[in-house]
Amino acid sequence: MISLAAPDIGEPEFESVEDVIKEGRLVAGEEVEQFEASFAEYVGAEHGVATVNGTAALHTALEALGIGEGDSVVTTPFSFIATANAIRFANAEPVFADIDPETLNLDPDSAEAAVREHDADAILVVHLYGQPARMERFREIADAHDLALIEDAAQAHGATIDGEHVGTIGDAGCFSFYPTKNMTTGEGGIVVTDDEAVARRANQFINHGRTGSYTHATLGHNYRMTNIAGAIGLTQLQKLPYYVDQRRRNAQRLLEELDGDRFELPEPRPGTEHAYHQFTVQYPQRNALKLDLEERDIGTGVYYPTTIHRQGAYAGEEATTPVAERATDRVLSLPVHPGLTDEDITTIVEAVERHLTHAWGAIGE
Ligand SMILES: *Cc1c(COP(=O)(O)O)cnc(C)c1O
Repeated sequence: MISLAAPDIGEPEFESVEDVIKEGRLVAGEEVEQFEASFAEYVGAEHGVATVNGTAALHTALEALGIGEGDSVVTTPFSFIATANAIRFANAEPVFADIDPETLNLDPDSAEAAVREHDADAILVVHLYGQPARMERFREIADAHDLALIEDAAQAHGATIDGEHVGTIGDAGCFSFYPTKNMTTGEGGIVVTDDEAVARRANQFINHGRTGSYTHATLGHNYRMTNIAGAIGLTQLQKLPYYVDQRRRNAQRLLEELDGDRFELPEPRPGTEHAYHQFTVQYPQRNALKLDLEERDIGTGVYYPTTIHRQGAYAGEEATTPVAERATDRVLSLPVHPGLTDEDITTIVEAVERHLTHAWGAIGE
């Protein structure tokens, strides 16, 4: 079986956790602080605030940027549901704009139209699959309309635009360290920002609104990362550049060897480096291909089969997003993770080609 994801947890992670446990410092220790500083340094941000998970990081970033009751936040309907849930946790209203067919990320023109129509207060952009969204446009739109700009980089550790890491271009960026992401802490997340006041409010929010010993100026949560997670994170962070390189190398082979005439392949945009959290092709007969690959023991994934506003939890939400609807029927993610061997990639390419030959006949062979 070639799996779609394979978290790489081993002896180094075990040893780092063993130290934390032996010393009995399960919370509020050096590991978390070091992890915050090291991750912020890796992406090139001034501050990092580690959280229990990526969803909490998104909620924290919105609150720290002052988004709340009565505010509306323009976002993509083609993401993991946590993106939109975080907006609702902040008591704000998500407004779903359409995506662009090339990056499958929020479309700047559609987002700007939604900003005008709803007099929005923020834009929450997602770098889906590790493909950088068009941040240059979003920065312009946010500045022109005086909006907060938040990046959901939960799938995009290591992705860059003109050499700058995603997550550092908006006012705050959020990452997840769930086991299937580009690096893991078990459960975990982080908010990165260059703005000291935002970092301070984020720290306060994840700590019951604490401003001093048993003084609580605002309402907050307990969203703190544990030292166990921090220790795993420090170990994984050292390997992150290697993981991302391997993902790109695997993606490069798939891009070269798969038949781009019958498929839309996830090419990186000029000037950007894709992090290839997923290698997602677009194909009209997606379900047939998925079944065929499963029969050959190749794991695949459909991210995401439903737009967020069509989920039961969003019943009553109105949005017209034809490009996103079309994507839900066409996307299929193939294995690209760092644990794949060269032989695995050959197997994937051959299985896909065999499917295409059967589906389209042997014409041209
Ligand atoms: C994983 C993910 C999240 C949520 O992160 P968790 O750590 O699972 O809470 C948010 N947004 C996107 C796009 C994700 O992929």
